[in-house]
Amino acid sequence: MKTKWIKYNNTIFMKKWNITLFPFIFLRGKNKEDVINRIGVKKYNRLVNHEMIHRKQQKGLFMFGVLLAAIIAITTNSFILTVLGHFIYYVIYILNWVINLFRYGNKAYVNIAMEKEASMNNNDYEYIKKMKYFSWIRYLLK
Ligand SMILES: [Zn+2]
Repeated sequence: MKTKWIKYNNTIFMKKWNITLFPFIFLRGKNKEDVINRIGVKKYNRLVNHEMIHRKQQKGLFMFGVLLAAIIAITTNSFILTVLGHFIYYVIYILNWVINLFRYGNKAYVNIAMEKEASMNNNDYEYIKKMKYFSWIRYLLK
C-alpha cells in the first residue's frame, strides 16, 4: 500500500473528518500509530483503502477538470466557471449530495456515487487496481 500521499492532521479542522484532496489523503490523528491505536489496524487498512479509492476517482476527474477548465476559459472567459470546471470533482460531489437530500434525506451522504463506490469496495484490497477512473458513474443510479 502506497503511503507517501497520506498526511496526518490533528487540528481543529480535522476533528471529525478524514478527507482526500488529490493528491493527498488527510487522516485524523497525530500519525499512523495514533490512528491505529484509536481504530485498530483492520479499520485503518479499510479506511486507507476507502480514501485511496477516492484518490483515484479524483485523479480521473482532475485530469478531466484541467481540460474542461481550459475549454471554459477559452470559450466563455468566465473566471467562476473556469474555477468550477477545474474542481469538477467537488462540483459533482456536492450536486449529488444536494439532489440526494431530496431523494434520501438523512442518507444523502452515503448515497453520493463516489461514497457508494468507495464504501461498497473498501473491503476489497484489489479493487484499486481493477477500478476505472470513472467507474463511480455507475453508482449514480444504483
Ligand atoms: Zn468516503
